[in-house]
Amino acid sequence: MDSLKKITKDVLTTLRDNKLEITPENYFKEFKKHSEFSKIKIKELEEFNEIKNTLTEDEIRFSPNLESFNDIAKILSKRVPLEDLKELIIVLHDVLSPSIDFTKNQENEVFIKNLLLNPKTIVEKDTHRKLQCITRKRIDADRIVIREKTNDIIKITNLMEKYFEKSLIESSNSTKEVNKIKNELNELNISDSSFRELGMLQSKLISTIFNIENTLQKNYLLLDHHKSNFEELNETIEKLRNELSTAKEEKSIDFLTNILNRRAYKEEVEKIEKKYAFFSSNYALMFIDIDHFKKINDTHGHACGDTILKTFASILKKLTRQEDIVCRYGGEEFVTLINYKNENEIITYVNRLKRIIKTNNFIYNNERIHVSFSAGIAFRDKYKDYYETRKNADELVYQAKKEGRDKIIFDNGIKI
Ligand code: GH3
Ligand code: MG
Ligand code: MG
Repeated sequence: MDSLKKITKDVLTTLRDNKLEITPENYFKEFKKHSEFSKIKIKELEEFNEIKNTLTEDEIRFSPNLESFNDIAKILSKRVPLEDLKELIIVLHDVLSPSIDFTKNQENEVFIKNLLLNPKTIVEKDTHRKLQCITRKRIDADRIVIREKTNDIIKITNLMEKYFEKSLIESSNSTKEVNKIKNELNELNISDSSFRELGMLQSKLISTIFNIENTLQKNYLLLDHHKSNFEELNETIEKLRNELSTAKEEKSIDFLTNILNRRAYKEEVEKIEKKYAFFSSNYALMFIDIDHFKKINDTHGHACGDTILKTFASILKKLTRQEDIVCRYGGEEFVTLINYKNENEIITYVNRLKRIIKTNNFIYNNERIHVSFSAGIAFRDKYKDYYETRKNADELVYQAKKEGRDKIIFDNGIKI
């Protein structure tokens, strides 16, 4: 106890001699020196040394003279548990792992492995610099990969667009151009970074194109086959239609005057008679006979007669409505079947016909030829059947001839 008192006294003296303030810090430092010198065992000093010995070399590297609890406390306050540091390094490993470009990973792995062996180096400046450098490299590499992949996608889609345009829209699947595009797609230079995903897409596209082409080819062949069948059929139909129409025309049209002939007239009579029976739609039958036609032939020649027949028929046709019937009954005789509601319609029609024939210039070899006709008109509803109607019209013509020709006689007594 005496020696402890002595040490205390010496400590205070030393502090005073050295003009140091008697603070707990200064006092402890001086006390420690004196007690070590006197080799007295003091509990607090033993505890101080025990704590000091737990410090690692790294911790005391920058503060080799640890003289007080304060000095130790400064170091201990910087202590982070080793396990926490390791966890932090593992998180860092995840953060540093590449998101796109996996080829540049080796440097990261070495860096993280070294950190895990020596976790405390994570706080060192050197480590920070390395970390920055790796991060920058990683970002740059990812950027390059994204650019390459985008370019690859653009290349593939451009080619596909070209292909579909040529093969589907322009339907030119077997042309040189499409084959060129297929080859381009086949040989498309996909970057290494895209090879895994886009390479697969590229090969799928190529096989899809071939499938589409096969299907298209088959369809084209089928279509071609049907098309030629169809065209053949169409040709046959067209031919038959022409033949039919020629035959029909030959059968029903008078070759000289181009109006219905007697055979066709009979069919038209059947039709108009049916209409008359079903709908009581009355009609008038006009029988026409050109006057002194034989004389025209004799005077001007048969060819002149033909021309007059043609002209006469065309005037008659023109003046008669489409729904009515005009026909060459034979020689210089014509018949018209006129649908009507009012007898005046027929009178107007006949007057017009007579006037036009009278005033028309029938010219042959620069010579004007006078043409007139006689006609008998019978109204169907006055008779038992068609035959009686025609017979009566016929008789009226005969009467007109007898009465001097150039005359139209109706069965109701009207004469024009
Ligand atoms: P009518 O006034 O009494 O009717 O006297 P017509 O001379 O007209 O009557 P007819 O029956 O005596 O003579 C008709 C003539 O019509 C006889 C015939 O040579 C002529 N003829 C008949 N068909 C044709 C034809 O297609 N072309 C020509 N040029 N003449 C024809
Ligand atoms: Mg006659
Ligand atoms: Mg005549």
